[in-house]
Amino acid sequence: MAIIVQKYGGTSVGSVERIQNVARRVAAEQRKGNQVVVVVSAMSSETNRLLALAAELSETPEPREMDVLLSTGEQVTIALLTIALHSEGCAARSFTGGQVHIRTDSVHSKARIQDIDALRVQADLDAGRIVVVAGFQGIDEQGNITTLGRGGSDTTAVAMAAALKADECQIFTDVDGVYTTDPRVEPKARRLQKITFEEMLEMASLGSKVLQIRAVEFAGKYNVPLRVLSSFEEGGPGTLISLEDEEMEQAKISGIAFNRDEAKLTILGVPDHPGVAHQILGPIAAVNIEVDMIVQNISEDDTTNFTFTMHRNDYKKARQVLEQIAQQLGAREVIGDQQIVKISLVGVGMRSHAGIASSMFEALAKEGINIRMISTSEIKVSVVVDEKYLELGVRTLHEAFGLAEA
Ligand code: ADP
Ligand code: ASP
Ligand code: MG
Repeated sequence: MAIIVQKYGGTSVGSVERIQNVARRVAAEQRKGNQVVVVVSAMSSETNRLLALAAELSETPEPREMDVLLSTGEQVTIALLTIALHSEGCAARSFTGGQVHIRTDSVHSKARIQDIDALRVQADLDAGRIVVVAGFQGIDEQGNITTLGRGGSDTTAVAMAAALKADECQIFTDVDGVYTTDPRVEPKARRLQKITFEEMLEMASLGSKVLQIRAVEFAGKYNVPLRVLSSFEEGGPGTLISLEDEEMEQAKISGIAFNRDEAKLTILGVPDHPGVAHQILGPIAAVNIEVDMIVQNISEDDTTNFTFTMHRNDYKKARQVLEQIAQQLGAREVIGDQQIVKISLVGVGMRSHAGIASSMFEALAKEGINIRMISTSEIKVSVVVDEKYLELGVRTLHEAFGLAEA
């Protein structure tokens, strides 16, 4: 008898009919003789609806109360799915994150799971029941409700699978697997049969929102076999995310990720002496703004230009802080751009293939796409380009690296 954890995202539980469809799938899995834990998200757009309600009342609602509010979305779904499972003739019980002791730290809106008490869940499974768990939520040491960040139900599912030593964690969504790039941007994108944890982590970190970053991190750390599948189709193999094997090493590039939430700031004419980078980025870090790419130019006339990127939501705050720093340092000017995006090529095969970056730049140049910033690591090359080039850039690279062909 296997233990299977299945997670269904917002679109997959977006209506009563879809919840019935999920109940039928879960029931079928149990009838195969498996023990099944189901993790569900809020019904589609519910989390956004709740966010908008709070925004009408306050510009800065307290994070603790936001978590109490947002966690209600998933609570509705667990109850409805369990009722549907009962109608299917299955024994099942629903649980909030707190009820199955998903213990997190106290960082509201992006809490990290520290511990899960799997005994409670295992007892129900052993009694022949399907266990339905609310995704995205946990409880801290003081008993406060916490949430795990957008897309966090993926992480609940993987953490559950790790705690129960499940045989597989299946992420059911509105696409039938992980594609070479987001199929909404490149219809020629191809489903990958397999991808490594490392590559998937890179894809997720660089903007592919098909899986939450922490879910992939967790799956890699505990070696939880993870599969992405469609909740709307029967029997497809989906995409398996696992450790590297020989077969996978062949492809140079596995996929293209992109991120539309980018903005950049440049401080021009900063005196060039030791400690300046720290003087610029220290105050930015102090207000909790995460910086992504950083470029410092070679200095001419003892001054330099310093550019960095951040999430677009942090742009205004970062600019305010940077204007102050510029004054203190006697820099010439601060300029910024919020109409930028980042496009990245990802693949473990890059380690053993030279020339990926130059082929990438050549393909973009042929389309007249100007590259604003570049950053590389062992298994990725990222470029920042103007927002208007996102679709063209992704499709051009998809074609140039032959990703559509199997
Ligand atoms: P859920 O609500 O089920 O969690 P998400 O919207 O979070 O679903 O994730 C699924 C979506 O991720 C797809 O509809 C697709 O547009 C997007 N996506 C982005 N990059 C990829 C990719 N490389 N492969 C597949 N889907 C991707
Ligand atoms: N409902 C939450 C969100 O929309 C969590 C999730 O769906 O995974 O982000
Ligand atoms: Mg998701």
